[in-house]
Amino acid sequence: MGADAPLVVLGVTGSIGRQTLDVATRLGREIAGIAAGRISPALIEAAEDWPQAKVAVAEEREVAHTSDVPAEVRRRLAFGHEAVAEMAATPATTVINGVVGAIGLRYTLSALEAGNRVGLANKESMVAAGALVRRTWRDNHAELIPIDSEHSALHQCLAGEPPSSVARLILTASGGPFRGSDRADLVAVTPEQALDHPTWNMGGRITVDSATLVNKGLEVIEAHHLFDVPAEAIEVVVHPQSIVHSAVQFVDGALKAHVGHPDMRVPIQYAITFPERQNNPGDPFMLAGLTLTFEEPDRDTFPALDLAFASLEAGLSAPATFNAADEVAVEAFLAGRIGFLDIVTVIEQALALVEPTAVDSYDAIVAVDGESRRVAAEVTGAIAKASDRVG
Ligand code: MG
Repeated sequence: MGADAPLVVLGVTGSIGRQTLDVATRLGREIAGIAAGRISPALIEAAEDWPQAKVAVAEEREVAHTSDVPAEVRRRLAFGHEAVAEMAATPATTVINGVVGAIGLRYTLSALEAGNRVGLANKESMVAAGALVRRTWRDNHAELIPIDSEHSALHQCLAGEPPSSVARLILTASGGPFRGSDRADLVAVTPEQALDHPTWNMGGRITVDSATLVNKGLEVIEAHHLFDVPAEAIEVVVHPQSIVHSAVQFVDGALKAHVGHPDMRVPIQYAITFPERQNNPGDPFMLAGLTLTFEEPDRDTFPALDLAFASLEAGLSAPATFNAADEVAVEAFLAGRIGFLDIVTVIEQALALVEPTAVDSYDAIVAVDGESRRVAAEVTGAIAKASDRVG
């Protein structure tokens, strides 16, 4: 893969997508394509900023909403998931997948099948279909470099190290806004409280997932598949300052950690320039004056972590169910239909009710995802109804 490969940016109007355009500007990279779910002023602006880029809109019905799109941009527009998947397969590009949700898997597979490098910020790809993504990546001699801050840190710690030298992966967690709370404190948490993250500024679902520690659970599953390390060799430690992004313990007792400001442009740039590093004119990182603390996660207050490990142990489609049930539950929580603690109850019940099956194709994943959502919606509905009766 050429170190100067043009970029394809999927999810271009989201947080990762916008920061990728910043990094591309700084690095002087060409943008071959941009994609978003819907037509929006932000998408039109990005299209005008990058006049060479093709533009794809995932939602087919958006084709009816092009009246406000300047003719010059309209000329470059294509619609539908197939158009986005095709864009991801543009030969010899680096595809930054910043799409949120399980649909991102389709684009990841398409990019890997084309032998492209994928900078992966869509963790659902790895959680729902880790084994399939891994096989597609290997079979096509493609490259997959994580953009999640923890996994980028692990990738950087592991670079050049033979697998046999790795003792365990240590994922750090900020602990979210409710670190130090107990279950009684969390019963009445509102969406506004859950969306107020102390160190990272992120999108809606992922912020709630940080508050429940579901996000850390998803990251454990992701790390297992990305680095081919067994679940029992993956550990989570709470580190409220979010300065140590993750660490690797080696068999000789050495421990490497990746340390820096919480800034997603660092892992985005790394995924683009690896194995090289290029100048980033940000503030230099100073160790002097820092106080870093680490503690065990509170597994009683935040049972999502153990549920994630359990889903990994159950294997097959269980992690896909974990992910799908969480998406449904978080949506219900943000809509005020269920309580904060109910999110994990929905996941737990969905895992108990959906039989794990083999997931060796995109269609199999879609089927399990749909079934898991249906079951999670049923559980969510029952919880919402029960609390209506009480309230
Ligand atoms: Mg993360």
